[in-house]
Amino acid sequence: MGFSHSHLLGIEHLKQSDIVAVLDLAESYVDLNRRQEKHADALSGLTQINMFFENSTRTQASFEIAGKRLGADVMNMSMGTTSLEKGESLIDTALTLNAMHPDLLVVRHPHSGAVNLLAEKVNCAVLNAGDGRHEHPTQALLDALTIRRARGRLHRLNIAICGDIAHSRVARSNILLFGRMESRIHLVGPSTLIPAGAADWGVEIHEDMQEGLRGADVVMMLRLQRERMDGGFIPSEREYFHRFGLDAEKLGFAKPDAIVMHPGPMNRGVEIDGTIADDINRSVIQEQVEMGVAVRMAAMDLLARNLETPPSGSAV
Ligand code: ASP
Repeated sequence: MGFSHSHLLGIEHLKQSDIVAVLDLAESYVDLNRRQEKHADALSGLTQINMFFENSTRTQASFEIAGKRLGADVMNMSMGTTSLEKGESLIDTALTLNAMHPDLLVVRHPHSGAVNLLAEKVNCAVLNAGDGRHEHPTQALLDALTIRRARGRLHRLNIAICGDIAHSRVARSNILLFGRMESRIHLVGPSTLIPAGAADWGVEIHEDMQEGLRGADVVMMLRLQRERMDGGFIPSEREYFHRFGLDAEKLGFAKPDAIVMHPGPMNRGVEIDGTIADDINRSVIQEQVEMGVAVRMAAMDLLARNLETPPSGSAV
């Protein structure tokens, strides 16, 4: 079954077969990335612009490596220091870049919905690299690939997503993805960090780690996203770690072979104990980073196949 989308804006728009198509293609890129010679030519002749209006280390690096390995010309724009400071609107910036004929635009923005808006104004493929607290589709896809490789399937799993759900686009995209797979999602955190309306998402909600982690196949920890908080959501980090931080004792509530995930960046000693994060028998955090490159290669490859215009220069 084909992947018929022109943009990757959110898991919201993907069918189960689209998700499987990305993951299956990503598997071949996992193999390529483990070779010494890592080049393929799926994006050869294409221009990829990474526009990050919010700081990023791993996502931006991952998209850059992914594009380069597939032969694209990749340009990184750190938007905080350029036109936005001069008061140019998001749309004007997008239109200016659009006039340079990029083929793929990778965008991260602090406002939910900004990437969708931008996609309406440009005529290239747009990939959402995280918009506000809305979606982070490539993170959910890389999490799914990591889980499928570790647990052998995506269906009928118990997935505990723990911590700051309210400010997390990672949680939202994963809830949508694993909802498509008929897996059971348990959201675990203090009531102040569970969004209003979450009870209608088809998930189970717990304010206690023992209850929330019981029988979990996957334990996904989230960072406290202070940049999106405008008040005191937790009494103190110490108290938060005591109640919700993942340590060996709390991990003991999950299945004995449950895997531990974190999208990064991690706050050791706040949402996760460092020894758990580094335990290669339980933690798949480094695999998540590895799968990120492969999934982004697959997503850009599939979108490039659907580009309406031929790659610039190909008609010369
Ligand atoms: N890196 C992820 C994101 O951009 C998670 C986080 O920042 O905590 O949403």
